[in-house]
Amino acid sequence: MSKQKVVVIGGGLAGTEAALRLLDEGFAVEMFEMRPKRLTGAHEGGGLAELVCSNSLKSTQPETASGLLKEELDLLGSRLLPLARECAVPSGSALAVDREQFSLAVERALCEHDDFILHKNEEVTSLEDGVPTIIATGPLTSPSFADYLAKLTGQDRLFFYDAIAPIVSFDSVDMDKAYFGGRYGKGGDDYLNLPMNKEEYEAFYDALVNAETVHLHNFEKRELFDGCMPIEIMAKRGSDTMRYGPMRPVGLKNPKTGESAYAVVQLRKENVAGDCYNLVGFQTNLTYGEQKRVFSMIPALHSAEFLRYGTMHRNTYVKSPELLTDRFRLKNFDTPVYIAGQISGVEGYVESMMSGLIAGDAMARELKGQSPLSLPRTTITGALTEYVSTCAGDFQPMNANFGLLPEMHTVHKKQRKQAYHDRAIQDLTKSITQQNYNA
Ligand SMILES: Cc1cc2nc3c(=O)[nH]c(=O)nc-3n(C[C@H](O)[C@H](O)[C@H](O)COP(=O)(O)OP(=O)(O)OC[C@H]3O[C@@H](n4cnc5c(N)ncnc54)[C@H](O)[C@@H]3O)c2cc1C
Repeated sequence: MSKQKVVVIGGGLAGTEAALRLLDEGFAVEMFEMRPKRLTGAHEGGGLAELVCSNSLKSTQPETASGLLKEELDLLGSRLLPLARECAVPSGSALAVDREQFSLAVERALCEHDDFILHKNEEVTSLEDGVPTIIATGPLTSPSFADYLAKLTGQDRLFFYDAIAPIVSFDSVDMDKAYFGGRYGKGGDDYLNLPMNKEEYEAFYDALVNAETVHLHNFEKRELFDGCMPIEIMAKRGSDTMRYGPMRPVGLKNPKTGESAYAVVQLRKENVAGDCYNLVGFQTNLTYGEQKRVFSMIPALHSAEFLRYGTMHRNTYVKSPELLTDRFRLKNFDTPVYIAGQISGVEGYVESMMSGLIAGDAMARELKGQSPLSLPRTTITGALTEYVSTCAGDFQPMNANFGLLPEMHTVHKKQRKQAYHDRAIQDLTKSITQQNYNA
């Protein structure tokens, strides 16, 4: 009897991880990848699993969210991570790869399978009726397929120009230099105000206008700046522009001193628990290193922990909380259709691999009539899949960070990250064993 076929659209990080899982589970996979005939504006060639920007898959340290996610993926049987390690280049405590070798290794691993068919240069513009499919077309999904998906899922559009501001952990804000309160007394504790005097503002301003920014791809230059303005561009319009914009001090008085500041940065609560805050109006295109250096000049952020850095690029993602289950399956579809990778609302290379793995595994289980794998909420994987499928309000793509996990208030702050790590690995190991999960 011939093997059941699953179609995977998109040969990026999520699509290839999903395909390898499905092949390992005994399915035949037919993959469609539009490159190199049709490039995205960021990808450069036709190789599978091409890393579009940095060659770093971030930290491997267990006390970082990124390091923990990698350990979880090892337990869950990621096929891409071991290949990345084989192609690693020296990069301190981060996992960085030779991108060409990595792409070749992934393609080789797939093409070794007799049940794998790869259609390169084929742009998909619609789904095939009744065929189990994983959509993994990424943040730069081709416009015609994005239009089709928007209609299929009942959304107006799927294109967004991402202008994400950085997020910091509440614990790392120096509260001696910050205070809660909304402008003119409105908004309660949802805002945290970081006052600056004239001298501090001027030093910050100088650093900001001279900081290094990320090179913008041509397609981004054309389309980006009408809709949203990075803070550094705003700053370049004049030394006081930010003080009449996101850093305006009016209506804000420090309750500790009764004084108004020269400028105020406002942080807004990012989650209900109140352990993550974003810098309001600070969408930016500075490099990550410059964000850390320049934004740490804000007095209350001198030791800030950046849970997510700001980014600006075109992004395509669906409103997952309305559309997807916590295993990335389209709800209310008779035919199994899963949406994985950045288009599902996760953000980052390793996060995209994770969603490909979970979607591939869930598809295999559904087709075999098995129940989905249960993922502990205390793991980055479980917390991120829950975020993507349940986030209330303004849904924005999210990367791995400890702010997603249930708090461990009883553990001292210094030991907390290690404790998050230990709890996650213990819970995931137990869950995998109980479910006889075959990694
Ligand atoms: C400019 C840019 C820079 C980024 N830099 C980083 C970074 O440095 N670090 C980081 O962690 N994350 C980064 N990201 C975010 C994200 O991690 C990556 O985009 C990641 O590659 C997403 O994985 P994916 O599998 O979802 O999509 P991709 O890896 O982009 O794969 C999607 C694939 O689908 C193909 N495709 C699209 N439409 C069709 C179609 N209709 N038919 C057939 N094939 C199609 C594409 O050609 C592509 O190969 C960046 C994103 C962008 C846009």
